[in-house]
Amino acid sequence: MISGTKGVLGFADHDRTAVGMRYVYPVVSRRAGGVSVGINLNPNNACNWQCIYCQVPGLVRGGPPPIDLPLLQEELTAFLHELLHDGFMERHVPEGLRRICDIAFSGNGEPTSSESFDEAIELVGRVREASGLLAESVPIRLITNGSLMGREGVRKGISRLAGLGGEAWFKLDGGRAEDYLDINGVSLDPARVVRNLRSCADRCPTWVQTCLFVRDGREPDEAMMSSYLDLLDRAGVERLKGVLLYGVVRPSMQPGAARIAALTQDQLGSYAKMIEKKGLTVRVSP
Ligand code: SF4
Repeated sequence: MISGTKGVLGFADHDRTAVGMRYVYPVVSRRAGGVSVGINLNPNNACNWQCIYCQVPGLVRGGPPPIDLPLLQEELTAFLHELLHDGFMERHVPEGLRRICDIAFSGNGEPTSSESFDEAIELVGRVREASGLLAESVPIRLITNGSLMGREGVRKGISRLAGLGGEAWFKLDGGRAEDYLDINGVSLDPARVVRNLRSCADRCPTWVQTCLFVRDGREPDEAMMSSYLDLLDRAGVERLKGVLLYGVVRPSMQPGAARIAALTQDQLGSYAKMIEKKGLTVRVSP
């Protein structure tokens, strides 16, 4: 049995140390209807971005230390065994949600910034297979800011992810350099974002993941939304699986937290309609 696990895990519980492991953690998701097995390749809380809504406490700029791949393999093997055969679900997961919905690279920083990203994808595919889980029922997902598509190892890992039946969720919170600077804390040329998004979507089934919220008392305005929609056009909407539209439910842990507030469900719904007009599937989460 895994030591150090809390009682029943709640929906707000995104504690990456919930089962006392360095790289593997569970998230119970009502929306996904089960347990997402998270892989955190950034245990040092370092990211190359600093999004204003980021929920990582003590976030610092940078990249992760070298990944201990044997430890990752050991942790994932042990945790999947706990979930499947050793009663973790009964002890820690509310009834009705006792299924594994995915294995997601989604940690305390940008997963593709790990030098071992491609090897980690391969490893997770191998451990999933050894656990008897099928790609169709437990897909591997990569939650990425997509900024490191210029690296060969990242492109290789993303192609490998596609080969394992996985998908990428590519963060896109605007279409203008000024929005990337203010929202994501990074200097980015929109033309480069277009290239990165194309590069990801051409290699692997890709959803765009967008967070919309009130910033400094103002909702996303027409100029912001039209630059965002234009960027999707330039990347090629036909390349994309769709858009996952999020609000800000959990509190930001960043210095700009007080500048942001949640949109209502209706407001999010009206932005979703704008995006749907592009012919894209949109899934909204408050
Ligand atoms: S890219 Fe993700 S981990 Fe990095 S700062 Fe943004 S929300 Fe946080």
